[in-house]
Amino acid sequence: MKPIASLSLDLDNEWSYLKTRGDAAWESFPSYLDVVVPRFLGILKSLEQRITVFVVGQDAALEKNGAALRSIVAAGHEIGCHSFKHEPWLHRYSNAELSEELTSATDAITNATGVRPVGFRGPGFSLSRPALETLATLGYRYDCTTFPTYIGPLARQYYFWTAKLSKSERAQREALFGSLADGLRPLRPYRWDLGARSLVEIPVTTFPIVKTPIHFSYILYLAQLAPALAIPYFAAALAACRALGIAPSLLLHPLDFLDSDDVHESLRFFPAMQMPRERKLAVLQRALELYRKHFDVVAVGEHAAAIELADAAPRIVPLFAM
Ligand SMILES: [Zn+2]
Repeated sequence: MKPIASLSLDLDNEWSYLKTRGDAAWESFPSYLDVVVPRFLGILKSLEQRITVFVVGQDAALEKNGAALRSIVAAGHEIGCHSFKHEPWLHRYSNAELSEELTSATDAITNATGVRPVGFRGPGFSLSRPALETLATLGYRYDCTTFPTYIGPLARQYYFWTAKLSKSERAQREALFGSLADGLRPLRPYRWDLGARSLVEIPVTTFPIVKTPIHFSYILYLAQLAPALAIPYFAAALAACRALGIAPSLLLHPLDFLDSDDVHESLRFFPAMQMPRERKLAVLQRALELYRKHFDVVAVGEHAAAIELADAAPRIVPLFAM
């Protein structure tokens, strides 16, 4: 029997990338969901792979995205919540703002898809103890926002370097992609101890010990920089997870399925956007096959349910440096 692992996709839309970059074009909520959703559903269907898709509440609230979102449910995938406004400074929200943000996201997603989400991933890996408490109150069972890596500050510098942001916009994004301390967070699933309540935490897996990213966007980035290296690096990471008994949870992004012809020009700077789509999809397919060869890959909700059932995960009190 293969060990369990999970797979998800953060359904970041065109506007949410433009917004984080400080590009005013975001305000009309440009969407590529009609292009990208059928594309990733097709690949997942050919692999017979079920995943969790984390939907942004604002997209669910717009009728123009309704058909694309319902097609994800019709294909049998789990629906999760990826906030309402997709602001990577969620950890700076007051309790009242958090309650409004997470309640409206949950309601919009439930209305659009007919499914009430029980799993959450924060935008830009942003999280706080009050956010976890609000999620538990709303009936969420798991979170999968933590990203134990040391490269967060580097990724943020790259972002600042390529985006046009004012001083206050930079301050808002000061914790984008996390801090060095995030590298010290556990790779294995655990439970957030919130006093009377708890939530299962499924971290986004990074390379054991060195904690460099191994999710698919990063593998594609490597494939652009050093084509011969990407798949062996991914295979080594999976072997390390298996050797150490770490159940991985990896994520996809819409940009993994798109190339520069598919997106707004200001998104073309993103890593791996210069790679032709056919090549990207071939690398992606190879990596997904490798993942499934070594692990029993399920949706994140099933992974979290298995952790709950085993009841052996350590309890950790949330501490956030930000
Ligand atoms: Zn996102």
